[in-house]
Amino acid sequence: MTGSRRAIVNATAGTTRDSLARPVTWGGAAFQLLDSGGLYGASEDPLHELVVRQGQRAIAGADLIVLVTDGREGLVGGDQTIARELRETGKPLLLAVNKTDDKRARDSSTDFYTLGIDPVLEISAEHGTGVAELLDAIVDRLGEVSGPQSPVASQEPEETTVAIVGRPNVGKSSLVNRLLHEERVLVSDMPGTTRDAIDSPLTWHHRRFRIVDTAGMRRPGRVATGGQIEWVSVAGAKKAIGDADVVVLVVDASTGATEQDAAIGGEADRAGRGVVIVANKWDLVKDRGPKYSQVFDEETRHRMRFLDYAPILHVSAMTGERAPKILETIDKIGEARRRKIPTPKLNKFLAEVTAANPPTSPGRKHVRIMYAAQVGVAPPKFVFFTNVATTFHFSYERFLVNQLRSFFDFLGTPIRVEVRRRGKKGVN
Ligand code: GDP
Repeated sequence: MTGSRRAIVNATAGTTRDSLARPVTWGGAAFQLLDSGGLYGASEDPLHELVVRQGQRAIAGADLIVLVTDGREGLVGGDQTIARELRETGKPLLLAVNKTDDKRARDSSTDFYTLGIDPVLEISAEHGTGVAELLDAIVDRLGEVSGPQSPVASQEPEETTVAIVGRPNVGKSSLVNRLLHEERVLVSDMPGTTRDAIDSPLTWHHRRFRIVDTAGMRRPGRVATGGQIEWVSVAGAKKAIGDADVVVLVVDASTGATEQDAAIGGEADRAGRGVVIVANKWDLVKDRGPKYSQVFDEETRHRMRFLDYAPILHVSAMTGERAPKILETIDKIGEARRRKIPTPKLNKFLAEVTAANPPTSPGRKHVRIMYAAQVGVAPPKFVFFTNVATTFHFSYERFLVNQLRSFFDFLGTPIRVEVRRRGKKGVN
């Protein structure tokens, strides 16, 4: 991590005697890294007591503690003890499972989730794998706990990249103009008149957004058969979707969602982006009566069942009606997509949910979920560790996703779920 081998590396336990403090700079943040020199474990070293005392001092003075475990050796009793003591300090903790370049380590790594330290990062200090992610995690966590004066906290805030996608002429450019409060993007009622993709930075309530308009992906020359139009605009949208955190799927309120809208929406879903469905030109449907909102939403949901998590907004780029809702919603979705649920909270939730609704799995009885962990963000990804190797019944997986969504308020983002058999040492 310090980019050097200053710490003495040796295969015999207990060879690091000193607590070495080294400055580390990463992602614009600076911190001191202290190697505690082997806190626990049997050592013949007469200096062991001293080492332990030094290590304890290091812990007492630390803002954040990284517990390193030996993935090749697997979870050992000492890890439990150390983890418990570290949790009692109340300090932010990270768990780094080392030596995961070794196959044995990868098999046992899931056991380490039981230590209740979150997140669990798999690294290989020798090969350098996972070290960048560990540094990212340290900087992130320090940023959360430190005050505004800290160099860590002064990092640039996260930017949300927004792709505005939809069929030609639904009002994408008009919406971008609305959002930017200026006539920056050429608007015309001729399909295909916006030639270039536009990247616009935007700050709202101190949050930074970058808006990508994709209208220009579709060239006027390509207006040929229906099939070809479809292909061109979905392909254009695909690129923007790939770059985005949040996708604004603009549909025309007066015509309703079409097959092509669904194709673009499907792309966003598969890519794991956040999605908000914006029904534009709502001014044109005002005269359809008060029930139309409901009818429109039901039809849209029916056409795009897979986007059941995406909020639907009724707006008018022309009058500006409810347009401010768009940024507010994008911001919420962007935040939800990056949200990390602490493992203890997740498992408390899981205990309640599974007590009332035990898992169902095709061809397997007595499936139990032992514990769960969030292993990824953007989109949030959860692993459920079970007693036997299995998958959940489709409807049960859906149920879990919905419960996670409503309980932890994951607005507008897909949620990924994986079922894994809890690792048993020496078995798999
Ligand atoms: P794009 O191709 O999706 O970028 O669509 P544009 O923004 O170029 O808009 C296409 C046409 O729809 C233009 O004539 C706009 O004036 C019109 N339009 C856009 N938004 C609205 C709206 O909210 N209400 C109405 N009535 N017309 C709109």
